[in-house]
Amino acid sequence: MNNNSSLSHRKEEPEKGILYIVGTPIGNLNDISQRALNILKNVSLVACEDTRQTIKIMNKFNISNKLISLNQHNSSIKNRKIIKDLKEGKSIAIVSDAGMPGICDPGEDIANSIKSEGLDVICIPGACAALTALVSSGFPSSSFVFEGFLPRKKIDRSKILLEISNNEKTTIIYESPKRLKKLLKELYEFCGGDREIMVARELTKKFEEHVGNNINEVIEFFNTKNVIGEITIILKGINKKRDLNLNKSSMKKDLNDLINAGLSLSAASKYLAKKNGVKKSEIYNLI
Ligand code: SAM
Repeated sequence: MNNNSSLSHRKEEPEKGILYIVGTPIGNLNDISQRALNILKNVSLVACEDTRQTIKIMNKFNISNKLISLNQHNSSIKNRKIIKDLKEGKSIAIVSDAGMPGICDPGEDIANSIKSEGLDVICIPGACAALTALVSSGFPSSSFVFEGFLPRKKIDRSKILLEISNNEKTTIIYESPKRLKKLLKELYEFCGGDREIMVARELTKKFEEHVGNNINEVIEFFNTKNVIGEITIILKGINKKRDLNLNKSSMKKDLNDLINAGLSLSAASKYLAKKNGVKKSEIYNLI
């Protein structure tokens, strides 16, 4: 295959010497595609994040194939073996425990190593919690920011939370159920309680749940609950234009109140400019 080859002219899959990155379900095993099953069944071997997870899919669809584990502890040895096997003409699939490999899961490094050896990588698309939650939220999805798991270190975390608080785009965050309440509290501190949010729990599974509408309501919903299951958070972006207009109308009201209370226009403007971090002339322009 070369970069200009067209899929409609592809040979029968799996092809020799190709690494297939295969998306698997994020809960509901019926979400696996026919194409993914064909690859898992017919490649020379399947490299898995955890063979105990992948065996569940293999058993459900009566597939038996050679499984090897590929994780952060053995990746440098296994990557070399995979490259050798591909060069010998074998076809190999890699899968993570759930969803798309490479999305907060192993897969990114191996794809990179394979490509740098001049070998081909083909992705068999499958479920991804981020996109499933985004589409379910109904928030703007034409442009969005995927943050994955937020960093643990306080300074890095605060930096990202500040960025999120000012972001006009929809933000997607992964979080563990254990840390959900802490994250919601931080989102409240940085973004305020009115910011629109959807917490998607257990997507595609029996107890799938979408909790909204804003940060205040979501905090209240989970407050007395023991949170379990898998969690993806979707946060709607801010509307800077609307926020500016709201801010302008509240500054105008404050200005009138201060003038009615006896302050001169100059003194009231100076005070409000300092309070809102704007130029004095901008306050003058309000009237
Ligand atoms: N590779 C996966 C993907 O494509 O979505 C993500 C793997 S990452 C290690 C696992 C995180 O994804 C979970 O902690 C959770 O935030 C999110 N996630 C996975 N499955 C989910 C589900 N069924 N419902 C909600 N979030 C899920």
